[in-house]
Amino acid sequence: MEDKNLRLAELLFPNVTDTPEDLEKRFPPRELPEGAKVTRIAPSPTGFVHFGNLFPAFTSERLARLSGGVFLLRIEDTDNQRRVEGAVETIINSFKYYGLEFDEGVTEKGDAGAYGPYSQSQRAHIYHVYAKDLVSRGLAYPCFMTKEELEKIRDRQAELKLLPGVYGKWSKYRDCEFEQIKELAESGVPYVLRLRSPGSEGGRITFTDLVKGKLELDENYVDGVLLKSDGIPTYHFAHAVDDHLMRVTHVVRGEEWLSSLPLHLQLFRLLGFKPPKYLHISLLMKQDGASKRKLSKRHDPEAALTYYRAQGYPADAVREYVMTLLNSNYEEWRMHNPELCYEDFPFAVSKMAKSGSLFDLDKLDDVSKNIICHMTAGRVTELVTDWAREFDRELYLLLSRDLSCAERIFAIGREGSKPRKDLSKWSEVRRYISFFYDELFEREDDFAENVSAADTREILTRYVDIYSPDDNAEIWFEKLKELASDLGYAKTPKEYKAAPDSCKGHVGDISMVLRIAVTGRRTSPDLYCVMQILGRERVKKRLCDALNIIKE
Ligand code: GLU
Repeated sequence: MEDKNLRLAELLFPNVTDTPEDLEKRFPPRELPEGAKVTRIAPSPTGFVHFGNLFPAFTSERLARLSGGVFLLRIEDTDNQRRVEGAVETIINSFKYYGLEFDEGVTEKGDAGAYGPYSQSQRAHIYHVYAKDLVSRGLAYPCFMTKEELEKIRDRQAELKLLPGVYGKWSKYRDCEFEQIKELAESGVPYVLRLRSPGSEGGRITFTDLVKGKLELDENYVDGVLLKSDGIPTYHFAHAVDDHLMRVTHVVRGEEWLSSLPLHLQLFRLLGFKPPKYLHISLLMKQDGASKRKLSKRHDPEAALTYYRAQGYPADAVREYVMTLLNSNYEEWRMHNPELCYEDFPFAVSKMAKSGSLFDLDKLDDVSKNIICHMTAGRVTELVTDWAREFDRELYLLLSRDLSCAERIFAIGREGSKPRKDLSKWSEVRRYISFFYDELFEREDDFAENVSAADTREILTRYVDIYSPDDNAEIWFEKLKELASDLGYAKTPKEYKAAPDSCKGHVGDISMVLRIAVTGRRTSPDLYCVMQILGRERVKKRLCDALNIIKE
């Protein structure tokens, strides 16, 4: 029997001369401080990066960083059909944009690190060493079943309500004679390499996931595919070999992998590897009417990471939102530490959600408003301009015509302990600032009805004469109050409230008329500041133009 296995290993892998021991030596355990975690992300280069990918990525990065470990990028490019040109650059740049930088792995300039190659497509020789080893120990075998044969057993299994797959008596080639295999292989019949699973039906395993806790799962007894017919490994086999040889200590991945975990644990055991610690992260759920469903690439534009950049959410805001979903105590920590960087947060695996976190764009908007309102006007100008350069050319040209003016606009309402929370993303900037630019200016709101047309006319006409950009804020407001009083309005809301019958309204009504005349809207940032930025001529022109649209 042993001899048969060795002969079979030689037959299938005649050119493999390295042994697992050789690889152990080539990729020795890392010399890292006690407790240092080695983590990785292993995306496939499909050209699409899901927003959900940020979750394992941030978790992995935080675990490595906070423990003085290593965070690496491996590319799972074994599926040729899904590979897209430029996708690796997209992956690297997308993560970099959110501040995720790798210590090791695939880079734009090739591999960096001593544990590569880091692209699975370049690791075939490594997988084959272990494949040969498993065959030589009777733990893997070639399977020549055709697609039709496989379909047939699947149908039969479905009829009998059995687990689908190749295992036990369903496996035609599990215990096939060497001579027969030799004949088939030598005549070029395609085959896959299957695990000879030692598991048994009804067997259970227990396992502790660092996020999900203690789990009891069915033992794997299916002879899963290790190498596809082109000699390329499946995810399962590559995961075991790569994470072992790259000396990864913590595997953070989506919970969709939980169902194959029994196979993975079995593989680690049969290969003689110590399994890593696992963190299976809950799927992102979206509220859809009364029910919840997975955030879907097909139905939800916000499932794509590119969406956030195109909408102009600052990277800091997206990261902040991801952190609030990842650790249940992050928001509270942030409340007490508004000035600290997210990197100072004591990220804890124990605070991760066991079941699906709810994804909510409104919540992201809130988080983002909070982040943006604490930025300096200079920073906002810089980020908006960068964003507009790529996503709104017209706005970019307007802003860059006079960046210091743009900065003054963004400075309005930013001082003090309660800065205005006007913006949640840069795509809102165009509308937000449109009244500062004659090219974008549009009258959105009509004059309020509580001030008569005659008074509106009077306010505008008089104000054209008294407005002076040289006035400071106090004098500016005094003039408004005087005007109010002259026209029979109270100088303050308080005064009005005390005697509502003796006046037509209060100073707020006067400023509302001016606000609508100058900005075209009922709500705007501080009107004094707005007028200061617009300057004498443009304020006067807006006032005069407004006179023409008063409805009698
Ligand atoms: N390529 C796998 C994925 O994109 C990686 C899963 C893992 O992290 O092991 O889902």
